[in-house]
Amino acid sequence: MNILVINCGSSSLKYQLIDSATEAVLAKGLCERIGIDGSVLTHTPAGKDKVKIETPMPNHTVAVKLVIDALTNPDHGVVKSLDEINAVGHRVVHGGEKFASSVVINDEVMKAIEECNDLAPLHNPANLIGINSCREIMPNVPMVAVFDTAFHQTMPEKAYLYGLPYEYYEKYKVRRYGFHGTSHDYVSARAAEILGKTRNDLKIIVCHLGNGGSVSAVDHGKCVDTSMGLTPLEGIIMGTRSGSIDPAICDFICQKENLTPAQMNNVLNKKSGVLGMSRVSSDFRDIEAAANDGNQLARVTLDAFYYSVAKYIGAYAAAMNGVDAIAFTAGVGENNISGRVEIAKYLGYLGTEIDLEKNNVRGEDRVISTEASKVALLCVPTNEELAIARQTAALVTF
Ligand code: ADP
Repeated sequence: MNILVINCGSSSLKYQLIDSATEAVLAKGLCERIGIDGSVLTHTPAGKDKVKIETPMPNHTVAVKLVIDALTNPDHGVVKSLDEINAVGHRVVHGGEKFASSVVINDEVMKAIEECNDLAPLHNPANLIGINSCREIMPNVPMVAVFDTAFHQTMPEKAYLYGLPYEYYEKYKVRRYGFHGTSHDYVSARAAEILGKTRNDLKIIVCHLGNGGSVSAVDHGKCVDTSMGLTPLEGIIMGTRSGSIDPAICDFICQKENLTPAQMNNVLNKKSGVLGMSRVSSDFRDIEAAANDGNQLARVTLDAFYYSVAKYIGAYAAAMNGVDAIAFTAGVGENNISGRVEIAKYLGYLGTEIDLEKNNVRGEDRVISTEASKVALLCVPTNEELAIARQTAALVTF
């Protein structure tokens, strides 16, 4: 079965066509600047050259149509016709409390996703536009929504409630939801598999460290806590997001700098994190290079980032009363060799020992701790698209 995986943003659309039997990626691509001048589709068929198609995309429906044309094109296509696209899996950012797992999309589901728009005003409306466009162009193809929040729905109340008046939860559903759930689910399962064990027997901490980052505690297969909150702003220091700060800072800075709450929100999301701290870049490679060149602010920024991750690992080891495995994933987690060493330096009290030779790896499934280590450390590349394709195939088959 061929599954088209769609990740739709407000002006972009990423896709992969995956053969669910072999799990091979047949083609992948990206539509950029949808609804803006200079729209472009970059299509990469497996084993063939990349194709760039520059043509106006006034809306997402046109973009989806172009994607289907690219996938079925006689030269750079990978299937003969739309009939060979058997299902579509959509990444949906926020499922609120309504969705604890993936679901086959129908009108009722669309309405329920729309009801979550308030919780993710930048993401959910774009996801819905993507689904609507696909339904318009492929009315007979079954579609599945896979939510970033679903895996975290097993968190107990004590983990998801904030120390706020309860009425905000009752009235507005203000609580911790967590994000990157598809990745935390996939990576924790994969970590168990690499260790030759079942996830239901393990306490696993997943550190998803990308441009956005989050840490989660997966206790016997269930997420019991995660660092992101009502929005993806909470938790560890990130590329451009502040992570957790004293909430009183917002009012303080708003007054000093004459900012509105919306402007402050923008600072916290786009101008903070390692970018704001280092004044170098949001990209960890640039900051590492600057630190190695003697830039002290870059060095302190990296130290603060590793420290913030280590503190969450400590918190989640406490939350689960122990930990068997700690898995590093996403851009920084998979590739930043020295970063994993720096984080591991904080974990000696757990009996953790990193193996410097095994750790000398980028983007590869591997145990990176010594045989003697009491807690297994792992590098586990995430694959959210494959996870979405698997969940889609499972729901469409049954
Ligand atoms: P997102 O999906 O949140 O945009 P990714 O998981 O793709 O993020 O991670 C992107 C980040 O990975 C980049 O900002 C970059 O800093 C980091 N990264 C990629 N390769 C390396 C590397 N070799 N060393 C350190 N960081 C890296």
